[in-house]
Amino acid sequence: MEYDHVREVDPEVADALAGELDRQRETLAMIASENHVSKAVLEAQGSALTNKYAEGYPGERYYAGCEYADDVEELAIDRAKELWGAEHVNVQPHSGTQANMGVYLATLDPGDKILSLSLTHGGHLSHGHPANFTGQLFEVEQYEVDPETGYVDYEGLAETAEEFEPDMIVSGYSAYPREVEWERIQQVADDVGAYHLADIAHITGLVAAGVHPSPVGVADFVTGSTHKTIRAGRGGIIMCGEEHADDIDSAVFPGGQGGPLMHNIAGKAVGFKEALQPAFGEYAQQVVDNAEALSDQLADHGFSIVSGGTDTHLVLVDLRDSHPETTGGDAERALEDVGIVLNKNTVPGETRSPFNPSGIRAGTPGLTTRGFDEAATREVADIIARVVEHHDDEDVKAEAAEDVAALCADFPLYEE
Ligand SMILES: *Cc1c(COP(=O)(O)O)cnc(C)c1O
Repeated sequence: MEYDHVREVDPEVADALAGELDRQRETLAMIASENHVSKAVLEAQGSALTNKYAEGYPGERYYAGCEYADDVEELAIDRAKELWGAEHVNVQPHSGTQANMGVYLATLDPGDKILSLSLTHGGHLSHGHPANFTGQLFEVEQYEVDPETGYVDYEGLAETAEEFEPDMIVSGYSAYPREVEWERIQQVADDVGAYHLADIAHITGLVAAGVHPSPVGVADFVTGSTHKTIRAGRGGIIMCGEEHADDIDSAVFPGGQGGPLMHNIAGKAVGFKEALQPAFGEYAQQVVDNAEALSDQLADHGFSIVSGGTDTHLVLVDLRDSHPETTGGDAERALEDVGIVLNKNTVPGETRSPFNPSGIRAGTPGLTTRGFDEAATREVADIIARVVEHHDDEDVKAEAAEDVAALCADFPLYEE
């Protein structure tokens, strides 16, 4: 891929675009929320649809000239319904956070109560953090994971729900490696008369492929991002039953957004079509198999794995037992130096700060898109172990960087 036209007009941006492409080719993307979309999705997202205003919904737009915008949005909706089995789908949210905003706008008033998992235990900013609009508009109480097991404390959740009487319970997480018991949380919501929003941003692809239980048809509302495990390009999505369809659609537009990003919706349509092929089911299973291999191999090297393993695409490592002097930030920086890009992360029972927490989070969606199998993923775990152990040793890091470069060459990305 080249950026010839941008280069003519704007060499500085062309340099940055080419640099980013090389960075993705020459490093291992292990940030659990990232992935590499296909060239077809890139093309759709970079298409002339970026020029089109299409406020409204297919067949009911506020502007003329929407026949192709309608085609694209209808395709995206139909494919999403097939992928997740949802009655109603809105594909217009600009991001996962915007999808959540759509649900809150459709169901809550300012001052209403949200019960959600705390950020340091794996939740998301848009679930009620004080720095986010949700924390500013709503009264928020939080549940946690059991610090011993790393699993959601479902009993604690139920107790807090009875006391707090929330209007909305949010499930679905950013740094949680285990299957979520959707029915159990829906039961709590029903018992206290709250709505239940299941935010599957990270695991949309795993749920679509059936390698993680689905909350669709269980929870009142399901939101997701479309650029993580589902690999369909940047954006968000809302799913719900027919009874909430009109409220959700008007909460997204005109409630919280203006014109939809039709080029992104085209990316969603193409990515969803790819995800409907049998090969995507194999991909999703391999993502989970690779995460398990990563977890097992890191545990063999003496690392503490939060919850003792993983059922999903991600592994959360608590460094405090194996490397009490090494922070998540130290590990993140040393790994970035050798070409392994992941993120520092808080862990349950965090004793440091969110800016320099005690853990790292690593995901396998990006590696698996490049073709990594379990054996190759275990090699990556070996490199991670060496680099974290010797994070100040430049010789160890230089050798590790060569090993990463060799893996990148063996599993190339965006070949011509
Ligand atoms: C990633 C994520 C989102 C969406 O994030 P955006 O960056 O707004 O697309 C929402 N909820 C959870 C749990 C997430 O992990």
